[in-house]
Amino acid sequence: MLVAEVNIPRMFTAYAEDLGYPDRSTSLHHYQYYCKECNQVFAAAWGRIPGALWHYERGNYFNCPYCATRHEKNVVCIKRNVPAPVRIRLSVKVYQSVVILEVAASTVFFEDNMRVCSGKCKEIFRFDIARQTVKFHRSVEKQGFKIDEEKEIGNPFKLDVFEESILGFFQSSSLANSAQRTKLNELLKILRESVHSKLEKHLGHKAPSMYVSPGQFYGTFLLPIFNIAYRVMFPDAPNLPVEYREPPNIITRSWEAKMISDHGFMADVIALTRRKKDFITALAEVNSIPDKPVVRRILGEDPFEVSRLAEAFALCQNYDNAIRLFTGFKKLEIDRYAKAWNTDLLQFLRDMLPLYGEAGVVHLVEKAKDLELLDSINLYKQLNKENKQAIQTERVKLSDLHDWMAWRHRLQNHVNLKFNVPDHIVKRLSMQTDRLKFFLPAESVELLKAGAELHNCVASYGQAMKGNSKWIVLME
Ligand SMILES: [Zn+2]
Repeated sequence: MLVAEVNIPRMFTAYAEDLGYPDRSTSLHHYQYYCKECNQVFAAAWGRIPGALWHYERGNYFNCPYCATRHEKNVVCIKRNVPAPVRIRLSVKVYQSVVILEVAASTVFFEDNMRVCSGKCKEIFRFDIARQTVKFHRSVEKQGFKIDEEKEIGNPFKLDVFEESILGFFQSSSLANSAQRTKLNELLKILRESVHSKLEKHLGHKAPSMYVSPGQFYGTFLLPIFNIAYRVMFPDAPNLPVEYREPPNIITRSWEAKMISDHGFMADVIALTRRKKDFITALAEVNSIPDKPVVRRILGEDPFEVSRLAEAFALCQNYDNAIRLFTGFKKLEIDRYAKAWNTDLLQFLRDMLPLYGEAGVVHLVEKAKDLELLDSINLYKQLNKENKQAIQTERVKLSDLHDWMAWRHRLQNHVNLKFNVPDHIVKRLSMQTDRLKFFLPAESVELLKAGAELHNCVASYGQAMKGNSKWIVLME
């Protein structure tokens, strides 16, 4: 049964392709355009914006040289051979236990320089509530050949649909978004509520709202639809976090910041939920996390915390220590280079575990600032094998660990020089009063130590002292 339909007669007034700088001598930025008003293709070259060093006129505002139509905001820039919609019909159909969103579009694409072709695209999002699966089917027709593909969507780590679906064109620059915005939102609401009510009926209990704000990046539909698919697959999960409004690389980084470096575990989680296990239980089971109330609460609020929990429980067998370590991980503010940093952090903690025990490892993370954890990890990575072993044999106290490693690190890169200052000079420059002792160092490592303690550059005089061109007198 058809429950909602929107016809969009025109998505854009013109289509553009960035051709770069074909003529290097003039540094003019070239574009080709297709005017939807008169169906003509033309090219234009844009110069620099006067006064700006790097900015080029993108040519979003121009008049068609054939029909003189003024093209302003509703121009879309597309890549070669990527079909963009001209007309689109969206419809929502509701059946017994299935809800379908159908997208049918006529398309155009730049096939070559000054050559535009037309085609067709049809997409079907099939929300099967009884099976709790969502399929995305897409068929693209262009110039005699047809691509037909189908995949399941809903796994939060598989973002391909964002790249592939033609729904990505529902950006603020589209005519549909400016002229038929209310209708688009109404259709989306009908889709969301149809799926939601069928899901509640299927589950036999209430389910929280599936509404998420679409954000700016994926257009009006894609993120809300992706979220509905995720919630159909995992009804007891909360909606997708706000990071999903950002470009894919930011989404990926948000996983890495939460120590999710490999999301292969989702295949097993999906398999378990298909066998009627709830999402949280499946997540905990697959990642060897004890299924206890605190864990359930954490995962219930944010399932993406699964890897940080798993790492904490891999390091600490004691339940309270593991939860404290997890809380400590969350407080470590890491974002940039998250993946590499987390790998080093976990390796460091694993190596420190036999020396300092679970309590020590928890302490290191909880007191990360005081113990200079970040710096310690860097130092540790650079220590040679002997020095790494020496941490164990010398039983370095946890509170001294950073300074000890810093000193060993200096020593490790230092080539020691024995000085041979003439005796009469040594005698003349050395002196001992009650509490003060003046003396000449016998080797460069003494200068190194003095430099480290005084935070100055005295260590760099080793070579000069070796050559007896300068002497350094230390005072204790
Ligand atoms: Zn025109």
